Amino acid sequence: MDFQGKRVLITGGARGIGYSIAQRFNQLGAEETIITDIDEAGARKAAEKLSSSGNRAVAYKTDVSDEKQVKELFKRVSEGGKLDILVNNAGIIIDKLLIKLSENDWDRVLDINLKGTFLCMREAGRLMLKARYGRIVNISSMVALGGNPGQGNYCASKAGVIGLTKSAARELGIRGITVNTVAPGFIETEMTASLPSQNKEQYLANMSIKRAGKPEDVAYAVTFFAAEEASYMTGQVLVVDGGYFM
Ligand code: NAP
Repeated sequence: MDFQGKRVLITGGARGIGYSIAQRFNQLGAEETIITDIDEAGARKAAEKLSSSGNRAVAYKTDVSDEKQVKELFKRVSEGGKLDILVNNAGIIIDKLLIKLSENDWDRVLDINLKGTFLCMREAGRLMLKARYGRIVNISSMVALGGNPGQGNYCASKAGVIGLTKSAARELGIRGITVNTVAPGFIETEMTASLPSQNKEQYLANMSIKRAGKPEDVAYAVTFFAAEEASYMTGQVLVVDGGYFM
């Protein structure tokens, strides 16, 4: 895989899976890796780390759930040239059983995970349509496919990402733009660090490959969809979960 000459934008790229994705694109020669995150200092640190050892990387602060900020981000991006690849990775969890879930818990998770993905796809889609080229990779989750107790808001948001992916794939394919989803399983990041140990044990017990996933496992799948070699794949969901759901 070779991303020379490509400009890539990753949301929520300051740490965890997003940073690993940014790192892999950078290592594979991407001309510019744009890291956006709500955590400005984290994004800047991540971009500095990548630029010091590889190609150009820049950081922008963006809350993906805020339409104004997303529009400003893509305006700045378009001023710098074309955008070849968008990875919608920013996401949060607010885990509670259905009967305890507040409206705010629902809205916050849907706003970041689903609306944020839509807003970035819409802005990137406009740029990519003009260029008649683009790769969009969205990050969903294995729980979007099977559900999970205590994650009704999260599962709904991530299932929505899959529906949005498929619709966009149908709309944009005619102009050479592919849209795909990667659905990770249990991956060791700050997001999962606070999970109770019985949840982790339950995940491991049901996996075919008996280890938690690493952010790099997800990054490999994302770069696969973004590569030239995957130009005939669109609207797909690639599950990276160690064989949890089959
Ligand atoms: P993480 O370690 O919590 O990193 C997420 C990053 O997104 C953080 O830097 C976070 O910033 C940022 N972010 C949060 N809200 C944002 C917003 N409104 N706008 C822009 N950036 C925002 O999470 P992760 O484990 O790497 O997860 C990355 C993606 O993979 C998420 O979409 C997640 O749902 C998905 N996923 C993860 C797993 C897993 O097991 N880890 C499994 C399946 C799917 P702050 O730190 O400031 O909040």
